[in-house]
Amino acid sequence: MVVSQLEGRDITDPKVLQAMRTVSRHRFVDRSLWSQAYDDRPLPIGQGQTISQPYMVALMTQCLELSGDERVLEIGTGSGYQAAVLAEIVRDVFTIERIAKLSQRAAILLEELGYQNIRFEVGDGTLGWNKFSPYDRILVTAGAPDIPTSLLEQLNDPGKMAIPMGGAYYQDFMVIEKEGKKVKKRHVCGCTFVPLVGEQGWEE
Ligand code: SAM
Repeated sequence: MVVSQLEGRDITDPKVLQAMRTVSRHRFVDRSLWSQAYDDRPLPIGQGQTISQPYMVALMTQCLELSGDERVLEIGTGSGYQAAVLAEIVRDVFTIERIAKLSQRAAILLEELGYQNIRFEVGDGTLGWNKFSPYDRILVTAGAPDIPTSLLEQLNDPGKMAIPMGGAYYQDFMVIEKEGKKVKKRHVCGCTFVPLVGEQGWEE
């Protein structure tokens, strides 16, 4: 997976490649899907949701340009895979999921895997998690109609946010940079994520 899908494309950050080598993706999907766990595509995780394609996980992580000392907020815990990849690299991960069952399952698994730098919350991630803000980085792993203003407010200055934005089923993966109160947007690539559902996202 790492050699052909990541290094073979444009993933070059050694920290990201090492994290992707370390975290076993099969642990985050149902046993019946283990034979497909390292395939180049998203997979179902129940509740109508997906674990993202490994390449998108690596690309989004790389675009955050992590040094290792950051506090990162993730919106959309899902299986917990992306949170584990982040937790391999950074100081603290805060992750929010709107579906309680997914959050609980991810929390149990990540504890079992020994992660001690991840905090879990069940709720509407479009509103962020004010209690622990500001965050050096924010990673949104569901497709948003626009940048949720709460997330922009909770982003540190300087800070970076990675977010798929656009339609409910096809989006542009964007990197948002906040610096000196200015906000710059950079288009990275097209992508397809499940919708970000919430007060500052899509209606259910
Ligand atoms: N990061 C996940 C992983 O590594 O498995 C994949 C996330 S999946 C593509 C998107 C997740 O975002 C789903 O689990 C979905 O329930 C969640 N989601 C959608 N809207 C949300 C919201 N407003 N707040 C929190 N989670 C949300």
